[in-house]
Formats: sequence, C-alpha cells, structure tokens
Amino acid sequence: MATENPTHGFCRDCLTQFADNAKRCPSCGSPRIVKHPELHNLAIAHIDCDAFYAAVEKRDNPAIRDKPVIVGGQIRGVVSTACYIARIHGVKSAMPMFKALKLCPEAVVVKPDMAKYAAAGKIVRDIMFQFTPLVQPVSIDEAFLDLSGTEKLHGTCPAISLAKLVKRIENEVGITASVGLSQNRFLAKLASDFEKPRGFSVIGKADTLSILAEKPVGAIWGVGKATQAQLAKGGITMINQLQSMEKSDLMRKFGNMGSRLYHLSRGEDIREVSTERETKSISAETTFDEDISDYKLLEPILWNLAQKVSRRAKASHMAGYTVTLKLKNRDFQSLTRAASYEDATNLAHRIFEAANPLLKKETGKKSFRLLGVGISHLVEREISEEEKSLDANDVARTKAELAMDKIRNKFGNTAVERGLAFKARND
Ligand SMILES: [Mg+2]
Repeated sequence: MATENPTHGFCRDCLTQFADNAKRCPSCGSPRIVKHPELHNLAIAHIDCDAFYAAVEKRDNPAIRDKPVIVGGQIRGVVSTACYIARIHGVKSAMPMFKALKLCPEAVVVKPDMAKYAAAGKIVRDIMFQFTPLVQPVSIDEAFLDLSGTEKLHGTCPAISLAKLVKRIENEVGITASVGLSQNRFLAKLASDFEKPRGFSVIGKADTLSILAEKPVGAIWGVGKATQAQLAKGGITMINQLQSMEKSDLMRKFGNMGSRLYHLSRGEDIREVSTERETKSISAETTFDEDISDYKLLEPILWNLAQKVSRRAKASHMAGYTVTLKLKNRDFQSLTRAASYEDATNLAHRIFEAANPLLKKETGKKSFRLLGVGISHLVEREISEEEKSLDANDVARTKAELAMDKIRNKFGNTAVERGLAFKARND
C-alpha cells in the first residue's frame, strides 16, 4: 500500500498532501492537518457524527445555533443529546433533565424528532456507501468502514478518502462528524473520540500499545462500571496494568472477560467490519386458543414476549430503535403499532415499557387471537455488565409490579392464573 514517495501529512480543508514536518498546510495555511507515519497503511475507520440530534436541530433552526441545546425528555425525562455548548456546563447524555437544567438553566430543550434524525442519518449512510461497500452501522449516526483496496477506485489513500467523506457530510447534511482511523474496529472507535468535535485521529500499529497504556480500563470496549469496579478491587484501573499481565493470570481472575481484557488491552481485535444485516427485526408472538379482550390478561403475556425478544436480541448482540406491537383479531386482521426510542434498546423492561401503552390503547373494545412484540431498526450493540445488571433489576421490579396487579385484580383472578401458566409453558 505504501506509495513510492510517501507524504505523511495532509490538509483536511484543501486535501493537499505534504511531508510530515509541517505545522500548517503549506498550500492553504489551515491548521487542520493530519500527520502520521502510518497514514498510508491504515484502512479501518469509525465515523461518528458530533452531538448528532442537537446538530440537526441547530442546522434547522439558526436561532438556537449559538445557544446551549439539549435534545431529550420524550419517554423517560432524560437528556438524549447535549450540544457542545451545553456539555461545557457539565450536561451529559442520559442525565435526568431536571439535573441538566440545574447545571445549565439557559439551555434550550428540544423534543426529539426521530423521523428527522433518521432522514439525516440515511444521507450520512448513503455518502459512506459511495466510498466503500463495507459499511457497518453502529447506530443512527455512526458506523465502521473498511476502506481496504479502495485506493484505485478513489485515486487516493483511505485517510484522504475519509477527509473527503466528512467534508461531504458537512456540505450535504449540514452537520459535522469525527473520524478515527486505525488497524481494527476497537482502535478506530477509540480514536474517533480523541478530538471531538470535527476530529480526525489516527492510531498506528507502532503507537497502539503506548496510546492504550495511558487510558483507563473503561476505554476498553464492553468494560462498564461493574467490570471497572471488579478490576479496581484488584487494584487495576489503567490499561498499562493489564498489558503487563499474563493471559492465564487474567483468565484465572476474570474468566472469559480475562481473555477479552488481555487482547483488547494490547489493541488486538479480530472482528472484521461486517455488513451482514440479514436480520431486520427480532420478534416473538403467541396465538391464543380463545380470543382475549381483557387488557389485564394480555399485559402479562406481553411481558413474557418482551423478555423473550430481549433474550434473543442480547444473544445476537443486537438492539433496536423501534418497538412494534402486533395484534390479530378473530378474522385474522392484523394491527401494528410502533414507538421509537431515542437510543437502541434490547432491554426487556424498555421493550415492555414502549409496547404496553400501545396495547392499553387498543384493548377494551375488541378481542384478539394473537399478540406479538418486536424490535426493528437494528444495530449491533455490545451490552455492558452494568446494563445487564440494571435490566435484571428492572425485570425483577416489573415482575413484582405485575404480580401485585394480578393480586389486586378482582376480575377473573383464576382466569389470569390459568392464562399465565398456560402461556408460560407455551412460550
Ligand atoms: Mg455521535
């Protein structure tokens, strides 16, 4: 891949290539330059739009462009995305809205408009596909790209193709994105976060170990709060500590996670950029022997189905933005209703939480012979230990709530019992 006369720097504004001793672009004077000795040898990238929802809102409303903007508050009253001005005040994603507004009272709060973000995300995705067929979406606004072997097609190395790509996102979508370029997915994702917003960072083979060494263990993909706490108990907080440990030692202490920690702490990630997206949705449904019209009978069945979908989604490392409820009446007429989350989920209680109000709305008048629930708009999603334990807590809570409802329910108690037991076996 190396060129005859390698130039290890280029300008992200005018795309001029130059030797790597320049501080500014010798052609246009821009300080936005990228320099790296392995620039021509790396082809795996992670592109992540900057404060995506907030950026789309600012694009569409110039009056809020220079103000702190928080998008969120729809389903759970939390911050979905904060713009970079709001972040300076300490506002973060997933923070309760009341706390965010305490930190930044002058913030403009915008309700999420998922249809608008999906449309913008689709244009971003289409631009990516014009540079390589190997695009693996991670979420609505980020993806992995493998640009290996695209030099001939584009007449330039992957690094410069990527700079062209993000320029097109800026021009055609009106938002900015950050790029990480490296030798594998884990490192590319890590790099894209280094200089956000409008960043372009490179992790080469030679500097992998030293860059990782000074990062906290939480920088490792899939290491959530629970694993961090477990590692901290053993006095391990930084990746360099993992780098000096033997694989057998790590596996003895942390089981399968130990093997993962061993390889990722050394920047070894063998997963390839994969475009296989055959699964469009994950769903579960159940047909009743007798039609049911009572919401109190349908609710626990929906809960069982939500758990089933959650288990399958977790097993295949997928999560969905949209939760769909499906009902069929005795004439086999189908009815579907959907709700979209601001972030993809595969957690049982969240699938249930989205589908349950839809079910409530439809029941009462009609009776049904089939009930189903599913998630779609799928993306790949690694579930952290923390999320797993949070979901387990919420699952336990929802179970308890449903059990209470059952006891409180004066109507057809035995029918509920029978219905539940029967469905549980049928699942
Ligand atoms: Mg993003």
